[in-house]
Amino acid sequence: MQDYWLDTHTMKAFVVTAPKTFEIQDVAEPKASAGEIVAQVERVGVCGTDVEFFDGVMPYLHDGQAELPMRLGHEWSGTVIEVGEGVDKSFLGKKVTSDVMMGCGNCKRCNDGRQHTCADRYELGIRNGFNGALANKLLIPARFAHILPDSFDFELGALVEPAANAWRVADAAKAAPGKQILIWGTGTVGLLSAQFCMAMGASVHMVGIDPKTIGLALEFGVTSAGTEVKKIDGGYHSVVDATFDASIPAKLVDIVEPGGRIVLIGVDNHAAQIDSRKLVFRDITVVGILSGSPGFKESIRFIAEGKVDVKKILGGTVGLNEAGNIFLGNRPAGLGFEPKILVNPNA
Ligand SMILES: [Zn+2]
Ligand SMILES: [Zn+2]
Repeated sequence: MQDYWLDTHTMKAFVVTAPKTFEIQDVAEPKASAGEIVAQVERVGVCGTDVEFFDGVMPYLHDGQAELPMRLGHEWSGTVIEVGEGVDKSFLGKKVTSDVMMGCGNCKRCNDGRQHTCADRYELGIRNGFNGALANKLLIPARFAHILPDSFDFELGALVEPAANAWRVADAAKAAPGKQILIWGTGTVGLLSAQFCMAMGASVHMVGIDPKTIGLALEFGVTSAGTEVKKIDGGYHSVVDATFDASIPAKLVDIVEPGGRIVLIGVDNHAAQIDSRKLVFRDITVVGILSGSPGFKESIRFIAEGKVDVKKILGGTVGLNEAGNIFLGNRPAGLGFEPKILVNPNA
């Protein structure tokens, strides 16, 4: 019976088979067991982490936390179409997204609010072989789902995960009225972090390399943005690395005001080097951010209340067959310059 089922119920999935190599494969559809849900996937965001996996350079591929082939996709939205035993039936038909980090639920970290750092965690489409969302359907444990407000469309839903990371950046930077914050990097995370910092009342200055995304930052109201760090009266209370450049953290140590905060969310393939003595002598707090997990509820609230306009970073949507071109850096004509591209796996 099982073989028959596998043979006849298949779906399309985007699978990275080797570095820079992919296939659209027919794979078995997922089926919800106890505690799980299956969703029809509607939109999946492609992010820098996905591209690092695709290119074969993501550190997890080299320390045993992940291996190819992989089904990527961790920024997603969809509709619940099946619930397993013990899952509230009211989930059916709901628009959802989910956390990326899926802790074991039993250890000390999981039980004190740090499930995203659980040693045994799965990461959706990233860690320990958990299949990601670049497919027609996705299976996840129901406890990691976030039901989206009715006002959200699927594009907004797929932006919740990067927005949750950005909320955490703004929170870690202690964004508030009167605070001056420098964000280095005008990609998705940098731009969204700028929006959340501003929504919390801070003045934001940005540094980037792409004139178009620098222009976009200015368009949505940052105080300054350019290719060089701007000297400002009073200096920067907090500085953020949202780049993929290992040389930036050391620069931030020299830029931030004494007593200030450095927030690190960008990851290069090489280790960044910083002089810890400078942190001591200048009384600097450094915060690393692994995931948006503790920020989902707040980011959904900020979006729902119109405090941030996350769709401003959307460059467009492609079908599953075009996903490979996005990963290869061949953006199909017709897409905007904005950093975030979504995939509709059913198109
Ligand atoms: Zn991501
Ligand atoms: Zn755990």
